[in-house]
Amino acid sequence: MSKVWNFKQELTGCFGKPVAENPTQVMVEAAYRHHGLNWRYLTIEVAPADLADAVRGARAMGFAGFNCTIPHKVAVIPHLDEVGDSARLMGAVNCVVRKGNQFVGENTDGKGFVSALQTLTEISGRRVVLFGAGGAARAISVELALARAAAITVVNRTLDRGSELVNLLNSRTGVGASVVPWRGEFNVPEGTEIVVNATAIGLFPDVHARLPINMDSIRPGMIVADVIPNPPRTRLVREAEQRGCRVIDGLGMLVNQGVIGIQYWTGITPDAAVMRRALEAIFNGS
Ligand code: NDP
Repeated sequence: MSKVWNFKQELTGCFGKPVAENPTQVMVEAAYRHHGLNWRYLTIEVAPADLADAVRGARAMGFAGFNCTIPHKVAVIPHLDEVGDSARLMGAVNCVVRKGNQFVGENTDGKGFVSALQTLTEISGRRVVLFGAGGAARAISVELALARAAAITVVNRTLDRGSELVNLLNSRTGVGASVVPWRGEFNVPEGTEIVVNATAIGLFPDVHARLPINMDSIRPGMIVADVIPNPPRTRLVREAEQRGCRVIDGLGMLVNQGVIGIQYWTGITPDAAVMRRALEAIFNGS
């Protein structure tokens, strides 16, 4: 009897520009190998003017789905057939999923953050201070609101951007949101249970950069989360841990959004520890 060969791999990937330093392929393909899936995740540079052709190409080649990163998270929406609820609220898609012959846009950034946080605490009823009002902050705050956080204080350097996010949260979700312009050292109010850095402060190579926060206002028992994936142990994470806080690093969000993407595309729940180890191996060497 002759053996039946199958050299056709299922395709997924990431469209962005610049994209060369995006490490998602390393963790996703580690999961594919670990689970014996003959799938690929390609890192593909797509210029803004070529996005429509790239999405058409992905359809033509039968991609199971793909991530979108800067600058395509908003621009991809008109090229899709449908957009999930939270991605519609955020106005941004970072994960496209093929369902039949439709491309559906989802946002896994905030969902990944929430699953990392849920390993430490319930979110319902919690009071949150969130630094930042960009794409990461928007994704995180919408998912925290949908998970029934009680209150979110958005602290941002540019007041207009913070106000825009707070208006969205107050008008479209049940959370009580307020904005504080970030001037000088911020004092985290007593009663805060979760503190999140969703700014770019601390990202490699500026690893010594410090968030303007009065660290004496960070109290033992608070949960402190950072979105910065590189380095995973940021200055904020280290200092908060020294003060008796429980911490979540940026790999928590990155790995968990990857887990959710793989679930959408393949239907299996991948081993998050395998994915995290694959990322740690590259970041520890950087
Ligand atoms: P944006 O450019 O959309 O937003 C950046 C935010 O950081 C803004 O709120 C900006 O404030 C603030 N900020 C930047 N520099 C400073 C500074 N020196 N002082 C005060 N505030 C500052 O970026 P994103 O939201 O897309 O990304 C933010 C970070 O999140 C990045 O480092 C990215 O690596 C990380 N990220 C991590 C993910 C993960 O899976 N771990 C996923 C997505 C993002 P202002 O409005 O005043 O400019």
